Amino acid sequence: MTDLETTDRTTLKRLPQRAHFDRDTVNAIIDEAMVCHVGIVDEDGRPVVIPTFHGRDGDDLLIHGSAASRLLRTARNREVCITITLLDSLVLARTAFHHSANYRSVVIFGVPEQITDDDEADHALTVLVEALVPGRSAEVRANTRNEIRATAVLRLPITEASAKVRSGPPVDDEEDMDAPVWAGLIPVETRFGAPITADDMRMDLPPADSATNYRRPV
Ligand SMILES: Cc1cc2nc3c(=O)[nH]c(=O)nc-3n(C[C@H](O)[C@H](O)[C@H](O)COP(=O)(O)OP(=O)(O)OC[C@H]3O[C@@H](n4cnc5c(N)ncnc54)[C@H](O)[C@@H]3O)c2cc1C
Repeated sequence: MTDLETTDRTTLKRLPQRAHFDRDTVNAIIDEAMVCHVGIVDEDGRPVVIPTFHGRDGDDLLIHGSAASRLLRTARNREVCITITLLDSLVLARTAFHHSANYRSVVIFGVPEQITDDDEADHALTVLVEALVPGRSAEVRANTRNEIRATAVLRLPITEASAKVRSGPPVDDEEDMDAPVWAGLIPVETRFGAPITADDMRMDLPPADSATNYRRPV
């Protein structure tokens, strides 16, 4: 597995020791997160950042949506910047100045291309479903050609990307270490609850395995 090459725009300026360019770190953050934010410059030259789901297919990031959505139309064949963030804890220092957060984040630059082949798009849609709910695609029927064609799927090679990771306790200045102020971490957890059956179910079925056994990271 090759590491990512750093470029001018993926070079971290502040706290560069927190940078990671190995694919294992980058991929683990992408895979654990469910939501990315896609930054585009719209047709009028104005920046807009849109949250959306993502999936990873090997070294490519996939995003999808209605073929009519502005995000999908604008991001196609144009420069984008996609960010992915996991917040692990709030870091409470002895001074407001040194408050921080433990996090893992990724920034990806590139030009996404639309997948036009139906079979490739179908595969990509399965990857996206599996990225969010592992095992779900085997529980539902196959996509129809119309469903595949109503959905735009974009593929962005993860070649120009950086990860940044902060972990550990607060870091205060020596002159504040004796201050009578509690310092430490507030962990942040994402919790997935028990499945809730849809009111309009026409059969009495137990919750799907993919819902009952849901956990993240897998
Ligand atoms: C949850 C969270 C909260 C944060 N809160 C703050 C805050 O309140 N104030 C603040 O100044 N910073 C905050 N940061 C850090 C912020 O993301 C930048 O890293 C920071 O602004 C320093 O950027 P820079 O000027 O060094 O580099 P920039 O010039 O902004 O970035 C240069 C390049 O470094 C890489 N890079 C920069 N930041 C990241 C990142 N987080 N993840 C992956 N690659 C990155 C990108 O490739 C980018 O193009 C936070 C980060 C996270 C994840």
